[in-house]
Amino acid sequence: MLLIFGFAVFFRTVSHGDFHCPHCGGDRRYRRRVARRWFTLFFLPVIPLTRVGEIVECTTCRNRFGLGALRLPTVRQMEAALPVAMRAAVVPVLTAGNPDHTGARNRAVEAIRGYGAADFDDDALQADLDEPPGDAEDVIATAGAQLTTEAREWFLAQTVRVALADGALSDAERQVLRQVASRLGLTPAHAFGVIATTERAARE
Ligand SMILES: [Zn+2]
Repeated sequence: MLLIFGFAVFFRTVSHGDFHCPHCGGDRRYRRRVARRWFTLFFLPVIPLTRVGEIVECTTCRNRFGLGALRLPTVRQMEAALPVAMRAAVVPVLTAGNPDHTGARNRAVEAIRGYGAADFDDDALQADLDEPPGDAEDVIATAGAQLTTEAREWFLAQTVRVALADGALSDAERQVLRQVASRLGLTPAHAFGVIATTERAARE
């Protein structure tokens, strides 16, 4: 009798979840799978051999990736991070200026709503001023890491507009804005440019 034997790699699913698929570009379900080499007999796995590695497979496009793919934020996580980051950014900006200024508060609420927190209002802002949300450094850096350079500029410009609502920028306000910029991952020169451009636009 002729024995047909060989080696083949088989996958076993160990978990499921949602991730951002780098190939088909959206929030997708994934299967996390362990690959193991097997000794096969008549094409059937008989003896498990070495573990080859773990992969993440998109259940939509079926492409496979390294586990690093799970570190990419999903669109949903990104959407949730942005309003939190803007809340964390406007609190020190308002505090550095006049936190009771109606125009500045309205602009802050508007900026936060602009990032998707549709029901954020002045009461919520007051609550944040009383007790700032989360670790500002962390949440702004998390959002910054997900944004393109243009989107970081836009984010910073929104906070500059909040600071400008109660009049020209004070030194304290500039300092806070530079801090927000650096947490976003913008260089000091870049921050200077965005702040100056936004100031100019507000004067016109
Ligand atoms: Zn995919």
